Amino acid sequence: MNDYDSLVIESILLSEGYEKALSIDDASLVIVNGCSVRKHAEDRAMGFLSSVRKESRQEKKIVLAGCLARSVKNIPDFVDIAVPPTEYKNLLEILRNNRNSVEIKSEGDYTGISIKSGITLLISISKGCDNFCSYCIVPFLRGKEISFSSESIIEQIKKSVNENTREILLMGQNVNSYIYKGLDFTSLVSMVLSEFKGMRVRFVTSHPKDFSIKLIEIMSDNKYLCSHLHFPLQSGSDRMLSLMHRKYTLKEFKSLVELSRTILPDIAITTDVMVGLPKESKDDFNETLNALRDIRFDDAFMYKYSSRRFTLSRYIDSPSSDEGLSRLKELIDIQKKIKKEKITALKGKLLNVLVERKSKNRDTEYYGRDSGNRNVIVKGKSVEKGKTYNVRINEICGLTPTGEKTEEK
Ligand code: SF4
Repeated sequence: MNDYDSLVIESILLSEGYEKALSIDDASLVIVNGCSVRKHAEDRAMGFLSSVRKESRQEKKIVLAGCLARSVKNIPDFVDIAVPPTEYKNLLEILRNNRNSVEIKSEGDYTGISIKSGITLLISISKGCDNFCSYCIVPFLRGKEISFSSESIIEQIKKSVNENTREILLMGQNVNSYIYKGLDFTSLVSMVLSEFKGMRVRFVTSHPKDFSIKLIEIMSDNKYLCSHLHFPLQSGSDRMLSLMHRKYTLKEFKSLVELSRTILPDIAITTDVMVGLPKESKDDFNETLNALRDIRFDDAFMYKYSSRRFTLSRYIDSPSSDEGLSRLKELIDIQKKIKKEKITALKGKLLNVLVERKSKNRDTEYYGRDSGNRNVIVKGKSVEKGKTYNVRINEICGLTPTGEKTEEK
């Protein structure tokens, strides 16, 4: 969501005639869009903010944006304006009047804005979250969940697509709970697929408790809905899942994965896993390791718990950070091995790849992503950026499947 916020800010400013500076030194306005979801990200953004101030040779307006604008306790004096994501629609007015806006005043609906699009167009279909997972700060910073109307989403896509757009990424904290006047997420996806024929469509992020298997059925019937599901497990221990308020069990999660793979055997399933939540025992952690071994995700984002303001889990005693780190390392090692095995198994297979860019160093090498959202290297002379090819994988470079195009698709 943070990348999307940056795009929204950039789109608003460019449409008003602002120009992108080549360096921070050249800029008269610096906007630091900070994420607060994890402490590490927050610390990095605050460090960057201080460095902007220290290293600036000229006077410039410094704006703190993103969730950080609402979550940080003491905004540094040198920050001229703080503006959280819910207020970006009023960004120009806020900049003109040089005023802070840290309260939730608007609905945080970006649907009227034309979003800058590359090959992939990012579109937010909802804002906020009502799930209140015990470790997560998002509901406190982004407010309650609001689904935008299907008409405004379609309108925004029409306004934002350009001659380069080939893929639409529908985004929300929990896309599966999207509902607007009786229209649910599967209906919205079908609507987008039929309105923008020939465009690839993806979505992120799914919540297992609200997930509908109908989405996988649509994927298997329509090649333009990408065969990728980002499905955050978070923990393999039911005790931890309950402490996290995730509202599903490992058994329920696994049965959704199994059903998805039965309907669409080639689907790529990725996940998020957290270690070190307060009260996580060695047994709980071992259950997470076993879940990873059993489910065999194509890829995983793994991270160590960090205590966040407002959240419930910060009031529970935590294991030592050393323990969290060693658990994280063990988890990463196991998942790396699984990922390598799964990537190696792609040798000889045909992947449907959208080419996104040319290699800087090699004339006949291109980079793209397949339907499962894997990075793929495409080799060949007549490959074109923005085109989709069936690519036969004949080698694995590092962890990247590599092959030659067989035909345009
Ligand atoms: S679903 Fe849970 S983890 Fe995801 S944004 Fe909402 S509260 Fe946070």
